[in-house]
Amino acid sequence: MTEFECKRCGKCCEAVCMRFLTEEDFDRIMRWLEQEENWGKTVAIATIENMPGYYSFGLPASCTQYDHVTKQCKIYEARPSMCREYPNGPLAIRFSGRRALEQCPEFGG
Ligand code: SF4
Ligand code: SF4
Repeated sequence: MTEFECKRCGKCCEAVCMRFLTEEDFDRIMRWLEQEENWGKTVAIATIENMPGYYSFGLPASCTQYDHVTKQCKIYEARPSMCREYPNGPLAIRFSGRRALEQCPEFGG
C-alpha cells in the first residue's frame, strides 16, 4: 500500500460537508485568537444539537476558514484535529471525510 501524499490542492477544504471540532479544537482556536498577531480576527463556531462536546463551523458548506483566493487555511496553526489527521482519524472518516474524500486526487477524485 502506498503512503498517502497530500497534494495541498485544497479540494477537501472546498468540499461541501460539515467540519467537526472537539472541545480541544475549540480551546486551541480560542488560544490562537488570543495571540496578539490574531487580535481582530474572528472564527464563527457553532454548537451542534444532540452532540454535546462537539462544535462545527456551521452548516455543511465549503469550510468557512478556507480562503478561496490564496487557497490557504485561515487558521492553519489552530486547525481542528480532523484536518490534522485527514484523511485518517475517526472524525474525518465517520463524518465529513467521506464526501471530501471523493474530491481528493489521491483517492481518484
Ligand atoms: S479548518 Fe482549515 S484545514 Fe480544516 S477544512 Fe477548514 S480550511 Fe481546511
Ligand atoms: S483533497 Fe486530498 S490532496 Fe487535496 S488537500 Fe485535501 S487531502 Fe490533500
